[in-house]
Amino acid sequence: GSARRRNQRIGVFDSEHHRVLHRQIEIEQGLKDAIENRQLAVYLQPKYKCADRSIAGYEALVRWHHPKEGFVSPGEFVPIAEKSSLGLELDRYVLSQVFALISTARATIPGFPPVAINITPAHFSQADFHKWVLASIAEAQIPIESVELEITEGAVMERSEEAHHNLDALRTQGVRIAIDDFGTGYSSLNYLRYLGIDDLKIDKTFVDEVSTEKGAVIVKSIIDIAVAHNIQVIAEGVETVEQFELLREMGCHLCQGYLLSRPLPVEEAIELFSQQSSGQTR
Ligand code: C2E
Ligand code: MG
Ligand code: MG
Ligand code: MG
Repeated sequence: GSARRRNQRIGVFDSEHHRVLHRQIEIEQGLKDAIENRQLAVYLQPKYKCADRSIAGYEALVRWHHPKEGFVSPGEFVPIAEKSSLGLELDRYVLSQVFALISTARATIPGFPPVAINITPAHFSQADFHKWVLASIAEAQIPIESVELEITEGAVMERSEEAHHNLDALRTQGVRIAIDDFGTGYSSLNYLRYLGIDDLKIDKTFVDEVSTEKGAVIVKSIIDIAVAHNIQVIAEGVETVEQFELLREMGCHLCQGYLLSRPLPVEEAIELFSQQSSGQTR
């Protein structure tokens, strides 16, 4: 009867709820262990100049191979990590890996371009975040301009005085700042120019629509306003030649996406750059 059906439904709900919770706890614990045992890998995805398709920089993207679960996507574990102090630990781990790789790469390839690191929004509310970043850069003995931080609009918009202070201090010292996933939040370009950011990354959802009439208008106006304010524009998630050509014609500076390159293991990514700088073709 209906009572039985109701019970079944509750049962299904409970077990689904239980499964999600269980997965979340497992990811949290697993990630904690992975950070402790240094089992996370950093991959690099190149950013290409639209004008000549040369590599102008990289973005570091963390990769986690769970011993039991296999590959776990950052899209799943980063939001879980960000609910606790695990997000801060993840950032510290990735930052130290990236500073070390910049140092190694620059030792053999002098013109090695900047590497961007995604920063957990909560990090910008920590009063001493900028001090820690600057001290780590000094310790790694790498040029300040070789480091870029990618932050979402929310990280600076919703947040406090601390966030603005961190941003100011880092910018003043020459750390590059990029606004990530631009267009998905609610900040206006007008506001962003006061932050003195270097780069603006147009979110993939807009890039996906760039070949439609409406989409083109939106992307073109983002590019125009950014250019007027001296901000470099990067398109994220470029997957087709058509998108790439349209973006280039609109004056977009850099493109990143599977069309050009997937995120690569560090050695491969560095190799790609040294081939380019020695004039060899792929
Ligand atoms: P994001 O910073 O916006 O990074 C772009 C995401 O799009 C990456 O996913 C990248 O692999 C993917 N992508 C790049 N090109 C294409 C394309 O052409 N098509 C498609 N479909 N996807 C493309 P990923 O590596 O899974 O990372 C997802 C998000 O997780 C990142 O978004 C970022 O917010 C976060 N994340 C990744 N690594 C780190 C990290 O080391 N620290 C922190 N705090 N967050 C990270
Ligand atoms: Mg990013
Ligand atoms: Mg993004
Ligand atoms: Mg994103």
